[in-house]
Amino acid sequence: MDPKHTHPDTIAAQALGWIDEATRAVTPPIHMSSTYLRDPDNQYRSGRVYARADNPAFDQAEAVLNALEGGHQTLLFASGMAAATAVFQALAPGDHVLVPKVMYWSLRNWLMTFAVPWGLDVELIDMTNPDAVKAAVRPGKTKLVWIETPANPLWTVTDIAVTAQIAHAAGALLAVDSTVPTPILTQPIALGADIVMHAATKYLNGHSDLIAGTLTTAADSPYWQKVRKVRAQIGGTLGSFEAWLLLRGMRTLPLRVRAASASAQRIAEHFSHHKLVEAVLYPGLPGCHGHAVAQLQMKGGFGGMMSIRVKPNAHGGEAAAIAVAANTTLWKRATSLGGAESLIEQRASVEGAGTPAPPDLLRLSVGLEHVDDLIADFEQALDKAQRA
Ligand SMILES: *Cc1c(COP(=O)(O)O)cnc(C)c1O
Repeated sequence: MDPKHTHPDTIAAQALGWIDEATRAVTPPIHMSSTYLRDPDNQYRSGRVYARADNPAFDQAEAVLNALEGGHQTLLFASGMAAATAVFQALAPGDHVLVPKVMYWSLRNWLMTFAVPWGLDVELIDMTNPDAVKAAVRPGKTKLVWIETPANPLWTVTDIAVTAQIAHAAGALLAVDSTVPTPILTQPIALGADIVMHAATKYLNGHSDLIAGTLTTAADSPYWQKVRKVRAQIGGTLGSFEAWLLLRGMRTLPLRVRAASASAQRIAEHFSHHKLVEAVLYPGLPGCHGHAVAQLQMKGGFGGMMSIRVKPNAHGGEAAAIAVAANTTLWKRATSLGGAESLIEQRASVEGAGTPAPPDLLRLSVGLEHVDDLIADFEQALDKAQRA
């Protein structure tokens, strides 16, 4: 199939239509070998030497995601963090990078704990404001602008096309953590991004049963070759079985993402004028931050992630939020996102010091249950929390 002229649903459902040539299997085998036979004349004509660098178990999953993102090449990593940190590790000490103040907390934490002492010049800015980005880039010195949109845990929206222009004018690359929208709702490369990162742990796999990450590049470059080396040499390499599971998960990605988005939109609208709710943060709501930009760059929905700030009970806003999470039965109290089951967490306690999440904020990952059941469960938990 020609991915450029095929819908994402078809690319995903058939995983590009690949057939295993050795067996005619429609579902691929799981390649477990860690090493590959050398030819008698000492060559490696198979192109594979050792599975830390080259693993045929990655080929189809990488090709499917690459087609969905419209990229030049895609690499699987052992986790979202292994993928994201590779983007920074391929830079050099002294390089200046811009990252958002509101972003996946564990990456911000790694940047401050490891990247800064190693010599990266990391500057945190309000990435949703193009004027702030323009003021912060240093032409020739800034090598990378990192964005996440919609961004954890406030779901603020960054304009990918505008930020790409600013980054490129300064000679910097734009990298996008696109875990939440997935290629079904947003294709950052078509909007000008150079690198797209996913925590494949989340929607791409979609079943809460593996940890994986990905990077997709818009073009080959010496920088990208260094990223490849980071994976091969530092060894943040995915296991073969996880790569196989990820491919299986991606076959239903478009259906899952659209279903979660539609339910999230209903839930956001339902609770946005609720007497026990302070605010609903969701890019699909007209009153929310970045709704106009989200309408331009997100297609077919605003994603399955939202946050709800609850009204205080007699013990305050934090107590009310924790009590809501304590009283849901369908919404499972757990971190992570993008699985079939809906998850809820009082986010400030997960992120700790420096979190932008107010204490009354519950982060919700909307799953694939019936939306009426999810609304009813959250309603009864809100009621109980008021009386707690
Ligand atoms: C989970 C997540 C990550 C990290 O991915 P892991 O697979 O947990 O290492 C990065 N960014 C976002 C937006 C995430 O949700």
